[in-house]
Parts: sequence; structure tokens; C-alpha cells
Amino acid sequence: MSGEAAGAIAYDTVLTQARLADGRHAAIGIREGRIAAIDAALAGGREEIALGGALVLPGLVDAHIHLDKSLVGDAWQPHRPGKSPSFSVMERVAIEAEVLARAAPVAERAAALVEMAVARGTTHMRSHVDIDPVTGLRSLEAVLAVRDRYKDALSIQIVAFPQRGLVSCPGTRELMEDAMRAGVEVVGGLDPAGVDHDVAGQLDVVFGLAERYGARIDIHLHDPGAEGLAELDEIARRTRALGMAGRVNVSHAYALGMVPTADAQRTAEHLATAGVSILTNAPGNHAYPSVRQLRAAGVTVIAGNDNIRDAWWPYGDADMLERAMLIGYGSGFLTDEELAIAFDLATDSAARALGIGDYGVRVGAYADLVVVAARNVAEAVVARPPRSHVFKAGKLVAQAGAFVRR
Ligand SMILES: [Zn+2]
Repeated sequence: MSGEAAGAIAYDTVLTQARLADGRHAAIGIREGRIAAIDAALAGGREEIALGGALVLPGLVDAHIHLDKSLVGDAWQPHRPGKSPSFSVMERVAIEAEVLARAAPVAERAAALVEMAVARGTTHMRSHVDIDPVTGLRSLEAVLAVRDRYKDALSIQIVAFPQRGLVSCPGTRELMEDAMRAGVEVVGGLDPAGVDHDVAGQLDVVFGLAERYGARIDIHLHDPGAEGLAELDEIARRTRALGMAGRVNVSHAYALGMVPTADAQRTAEHLATAGVSILTNAPGNHAYPSVRQLRAAGVTVIAGNDNIRDAWWPYGDADMLERAMLIGYGSGFLTDEELAIAFDLATDSAARALGIGDYGVRVGAYADLVVVAARNVAEAVVARPPRSHVFKAGKLVAQAGAFVRR
């Protein structure tokens, strides 16, 4: 404030009585969408919001969600079990097609899920969107419209996701190309072995599209055991060869949680060297990679909710604090330091892996902030308190746990 006339407006908004993650109490000055100052006290806000000692956290990042699949905002649909005793991706896809054929339009359901996520403090998300010959680009067009409608409340990165297979499903390759031209930033993939039965074939298309369009990559990998590990090694090899460090993510990577620790360790080291990140949602009914082991090996691990109340499973309310809690719970995380790791998966690490710049509660970063009644990050993770305020680029987008309609 030095050098400015007393009473002059220096900030669009000043958040007072804020608690920072390190325990300090401070005021946060926001100007033109960014954090302009953090200090013991600040004056000169056009608007002042007193937080009463609540904790200010960076906006949460949901690094894996499916906006086109969720039934949030629609009638309740009981889960329909598959007929085969073992999990089959293609059987579930067939059930999903029947469920979604009778569901409300994608735009309506996706909008309801976006509002739910923003109300819970998510300020960035990566949504996969199905690209296949049955849906064509219709779901993509709907999600692109939703992204535009909510751009002041939430940043959405879109993945073109070949849910019915890429090289084994005629017409999909061309549609994926159309999706990239339509403004998608991330090329998706799905079980190159288990779904396409052609690892090199699918990865040629995925990495080829990414190279041509300067896009990132995010591959769903449920393939188990040694086969899944070999695919991870191959993804790491291609990432290194193409100089794509930090731009490739593998979601789920179940194989890493299914093989002996020493085998997982070798592949973890390949992933770390190549700069391939791993996303987990810590599923309750399936082995998943060890967050501890991957991080110790130097792999960036990130978190997402994945399916939310859709034909795949009935759970979820788009809450990344709850997801962090579930990951901590499933990983046996008990200390404050471990709970902070679970939180990091849904904040700093996820922002880094998704290429989100100027992120965090620091001067110069975008004022994407979420406020909760908690004394520290560990308590925020275990208690998942209601989000009292959510700011996107300094604008209040949710208050008292509810999306702010404009
Ligand atoms: Zn998914």
C-alpha cells in the first residue's frame, strides 16, 4: 500500500481473516482475477469478505471425470448389474448405451454435474468424452457448449475418449481426428490390449494424433498384470522417444497394484524417467497402484472422481476433498504429512500434470480458491467440511455449499 493515497482502491476484493495452510492468519488481495498480495492486513478493497479464520485452499482439480455419462440432474436410475461374472468393459458399454438412450440430454446432465463440482470447490477439471460411431461428435458438441457456458466458473480440459475401442471400432479413428479439430486438447485411449487387441496399433494412432495436434495424452488402462505392465513400459518408451515428458497420463493403471512390488518398481522407474503421470481414484473393489511407491519412485500421481452416478457405478458427488479422503483411507495414510499427500494429488500435482499454470495460494497465481472451516489441510481432508466460498479468477462462484447462479 505504500505510495498509494489513503482510501484508494487497490484490490477488487480483499479476503480478510483468512487462515493459510501454514497456519498464518492473513489478508488476501485479489486484482484482475489474480492474487495480488498476501499480508497480515490489507486495505483498499472495493469489496471485503471476512472469512472468520477459515482455511483458504487452492481450487480443487478433478483430473478425471466423465461429464457426458453422469445421471446427476436426471431421474435416479438403479444400477444394472452385468450378466457375466467377471468385469467386462464392453458389456458395461452396452448397458450404458441403453441407459443413456433414455436419459436427459447430455447438456442438461453435464451442466448439473458442473454446478455440483463447482459447489464443492473444483475450479479445474479434465473430462473424458465418448467418441464413437454411435454417438459421433454429439456428446462432444454438448460438452463443448457446457464448457463455454460455465467458463467463468470452471476450466474444463476435454479428452477425446474412444470408449468402444479405437482401431478395432471402424470409423473411430476418423472421429478422433474430427474431435481434435473441434478443439479437444487431450487424446484418449483405452486398454490397447484388452479392448483393441493391438497395442502398437492403438498407441500409433494416439501418439500420432497427439504429435499432429500438439495435444496431451490420457489413456484409461485397466489391463491387468504383466500385460498391463508391458503396456505402461511401452507408453513410457514412446513418451521418451517423442519428448512428451509431463504431457502423458495413464488413468487407473491397475496392473501396478496387481503385480509383485519389485515388478511394479521397475515400471514405476520407467514412468518417472519418461515423465508419465498416473491417475487414481482409489476404487473400493479393485487393486490400484501404490501412491507411496509411485511417489517414492518420482512419478507424479494425481486424482480424479471418474464416474459419478452413472451406468458404471452409483457413487460420487464430485467432491475432490472426499476423493482425497478415499485415497488416503485406501492407502493407509494416517499422519498429517500423508494426508497432505492425498490433498496434493487433487491440487498441486494434478495442476502440474494437466499443465495448469499460475496455480496455488500465492502472489501472482489466479485467484482460484476454496474456503473451508478447518484448521489445516489434514483436517480438511478427513472432515470434508462444506465449502463456504469458492472463487474462480477472483469471482465468487459458490457460497455456503451452493453454486452461485448469475
Ligand atoms: Zn474414466
